[in-house]
Amino acid sequence: MCGIVGYVGENSASPILIDGLKKLEYRGYDSAGIAVSENGKTDVVKTKGRIKNLEEKLEEVGGLSGTVGIGHTRWATHGAPTDVNAHPHKGGNGRITLVHNGIIENYIELKTMLQKGGYVFVSETDTEVLAHLFDYYYKGDLLDAMVNVMKTVRGSYAVAILADDKPGTIIAARKDSPLIVGLGDGENFLASDIPAVLKYTRDCYLLEDNQIAVLTKDNVTLYDTDKNVVKKDVYHVTWDVEAAEKCGYEHFMQKEIAEQPKAIHDTLSPRIKDGRVSIPELTLTDEEIKNIGKIHIVACGSAWHVGMTAKYIFEDMARIPCETDLASEFRYRDPIIKKGDICIVISQSGETADTLAALREAKSKGAKVISIVNVVASTIARESDDVIYTMAGPEIAVATTKAFSAQLAVVYLLALRFSKAVGLLPEEREKELTKELMCLPSQIEDLLNLTDELKTLAHKYVGSDDVFFIGRGLDYAISLEGSLKLKEISYIHSEAYAAGELKHGTISLIEEGTPVFAVATQDKLFEKTLGNIKEVKARGASVIALVTDKHASVSEFADEVIRVPVTDGNFLPSLNVIPLQIFAYYMAVLRGCDVDKPRNLAKSVTVE
Ligand code: GLU
Repeated sequence: MCGIVGYVGENSASPILIDGLKKLEYRGYDSAGIAVSENGKTDVVKTKGRIKNLEEKLEEVGGLSGTVGIGHTRWATHGAPTDVNAHPHKGGNGRITLVHNGIIENYIELKTMLQKGGYVFVSETDTEVLAHLFDYYYKGDLLDAMVNVMKTVRGSYAVAILADDKPGTIIAARKDSPLIVGLGDGENFLASDIPAVLKYTRDCYLLEDNQIAVLTKDNVTLYDTDKNVVKKDVYHVTWDVEAAEKCGYEHFMQKEIAEQPKAIHDTLSPRIKDGRVSIPELTLTDEEIKNIGKIHIVACGSAWHVGMTAKYIFEDMARIPCETDLASEFRYRDPIIKKGDICIVISQSGETADTLAALREAKSKGAKVISIVNVVASTIARESDDVIYTMAGPEIAVATTKAFSAQLAVVYLLALRFSKAVGLLPEEREKELTKELMCLPSQIEDLLNLTDELKTLAHKYVGSDDVFFIGRGLDYAISLEGSLKLKEISYIHSEAYAAGELKHGTISLIEEGTPVFAVATQDKLFEKTLGNIKEVKARGASVIALVTDKHASVSEFADEVIRVPVTDGNFLPSLNVIPLQIFAYYMAVLRGCDVDKPRNLAKSVTVE
């Protein structure tokens, strides 16, 4: 996955491309490059490292002049992040210049074919095949060449291409990787995501799979792969770019942690009226809900943890069997989907490649697909039968916080809706529960005040090599998220275990001083988890217990106690996750890690 930008107009392309790339750096940041055309010649400057390294290199070479260009920030899939592997890549004798987001699956066979034809490859990337293949098919008609390339390659791509003999034109296309066109006045833009063009225009075309865009400064034409012109509505962006800026916080993650009360409130409040849940986006009827055989939840990473949480809650509140799968597993295991089953997919970006493939798999087998997505009009949103948007606003830090919390809020709404439809939620109880839900934002505000306490805790444990998280039921699901948050941003090894599973092997890893976060907030499981706390304590662990105000007595058995307020047991994950996020954040800060852009990761994972 990566970020692509393009510009054609009357202004100097280079600063516009750099500016756009900075907005897309969350998508990948191991190398970057731009290409700018002038007088039928396209120059490339590219480097491994971040955009700031690219800026330095541009300064060294005296910049690039020209009013047409393309740019790329890379997240390597084929070949190490080196200068040579960085995009843009050249095709043929250099007359073609190309940037690519995605993976070309049949690149080895195409490379062999092209090498036989005399093409010389300089990089290890799959992308270079596209550049040479385009040259191979290019006989003076850009559209012809693009269509032939698209019919020949397998895999995923968003591409933008310049040809030296067509000055002032960019041709672009997409399949399974996002791409938008920004429509300006005497200038047009191309980008993987809207924030990259928002400074210049609010009018966009959101390209669909297998669509091609030809951009000149005064015109944008869209085509399908049969070369028919495609008419598309202009999407007008209504949200603001400031929402994607830091506003005085040291890191986006810190800002986004603080924004969680708002994200949850904004997600819940339009869907709760007079104490009753109403999700207008959900088209399932009561009858259809009653007939659901199984709910298949599919997601990746933190969204999968939301799915794990949802499984416990849906089964408890609606008594509908539920299975939560990793999208990368689901898509290839030929899942058994029966008539009446539904599939819920969860993705912040709405572009997660594995989740998108899982969605298509479920749909092809006849399941109705409901998605929980943050990015409006993203591919997953567009391909789902019903989409329930999380109202978290743009999330920039790679490690999710507010989108995770907003996803949980949607899960609660769905659970109430399902429970009501199957006749398990009397009106009075619905009123009580929706009231509890609407209290979550202010309860989280209170938890945000634990910052100093958690910072002190982080100081104490910052030297740890391993940290364990244990819990049962919903506490286990949130332990998974606490552990992931810690390891992904602080690089400290961490594992989460169902507390009852420890004695089946993992307990041998506990030694004197090993920190164990014990999440024990579920009333009916408290005694059981307390037993597990005692077991690890007896083996030398330093126990940090996360409990509700009801169970403060745990301090007798724990080294530290973090308390969250009381709410309905099913809603506790929303409170429990807050101290875990703050702890992970400070551990990463104290270890000097790049909190918002952890190594080897990217925000929107558009490769499988
Ligand atoms: N597969 C290409 C590469 O490794 C593109 C990766 C990306 O999307 O950044 O260079």
